[in-house]
Amino acid sequence: MKELPGASLQKACRLLVVFCALHLSVVFFYYLAGNARSLHGHPDPPPRGPAPPRPETPAPAPPQTSRPVNASKQQCPDPSPLLVGPLRIEFSHTVNMKKVAEENPEVREGGRYTPKDCTALQKVAIIIPFRNRDEHLKYWLYYLHPILQRQQLDYGIYVINQGGEETFNRAKLLNIGFVEALKEYDYNCFVFSDVDLIPMDDRNTYKCYDQPRHLSVSMDKFGFRLPYNQYFGGVSALSKVQFEKINGFPNNYWGWGGEDDDIYNRLVFKGMGVSRPDATIGKCRMIHHSRDTKNEPNPQRFTKIAHTKETMKADGLNTLSYKAVKIERFSLYTKITVDVGSPKS
Ligand code: BGC
Repeated sequence: MKELPGASLQKACRLLVVFCALHLSVVFFYYLAGNARSLHGHPDPPPRGPAPPRPETPAPAPPQTSRPVNASKQQCPDPSPLLVGPLRIEFSHTVNMKKVAEENPEVREGGRYTPKDCTALQKVAIIIPFRNRDEHLKYWLYYLHPILQRQQLDYGIYVINQGGEETFNRAKLLNIGFVEALKEYDYNCFVFSDVDLIPMDDRNTYKCYDQPRHLSVSMDKFGFRLPYNQYFGGVSALSKVQFEKINGFPNNYWGWGGEDDDIYNRLVFKGMGVSRPDATIGKCRMIHHSRDTKNEPNPQRFTKIAHTKETMKADGLNTLSYKAVKIERFSLYTKITVDVGSPKS
């Protein structure tokens, strides 16, 4: 029997109503279920896509390599954030070396220090020409070790002690310090310091610059100013390259004076200038002392200074001869006793 057209339309409408009702009830059911989850504190389901990082889950360990542990250390910032600025320096108390060593537990044997948390910008050998000044050396170590550590330098202290009774030869001792320090470590900067000079501000960093550096620019002894513009005495810093460029320092200045002027001339003749901190940062104190015996002013110094240009090629690192008599590694410094020969040798 053939169905009437009206009846089939009715049937289709009924089916549609049933389908809609079913659909609505399913939507209603999920709506109620969702509300119930929220009320009971369940978070929303995570959005599709990559899962966000989960900090509480430890990351898988990176594969082991043979890289040294500190290879990932960052370079130390310049300037060091540990600096404090002006310092009170005085010499009325007595210094106990054992105590100084205890107060600087990170300084290694021989007076070596390397920053723990960052890679130092420079490897600095500090060279001190020396003879019979143990009391001054104590003050120097007491004040300088904490300063140099705050400056975050990778440094070593070398006291070059002139043995025997011959007239003192400061510049030759400095040349020897350069050679001996390099036998021990790959230093790229050399600070040459008198034993009786202490900086009054730790922002005066004992490191090297683009040009040779004069650090003791503002000494109490000279009324906190330069005695003359070309003055290069006291404390200075030269990179390895700068030092080699001038053939090191002269070996032939015996007794007090002139060798620092000769060094200044060498720098100028090799086309370099002198870099300096400002007069406030460059302040320093000298420990008072009477004149040393066997270090009388050198009467030949004026004639010698006048001839640096000719003499510097044949007097310096390339003609240095000496004998290392004894090397002692103390907790705060390395002491190298040397035979520097005599003026005629
Ligand atoms: C000497 C230098 C000394 C300077 C300051 C000059 O006459 O030649 O060696 O550093 O005086 O005392």
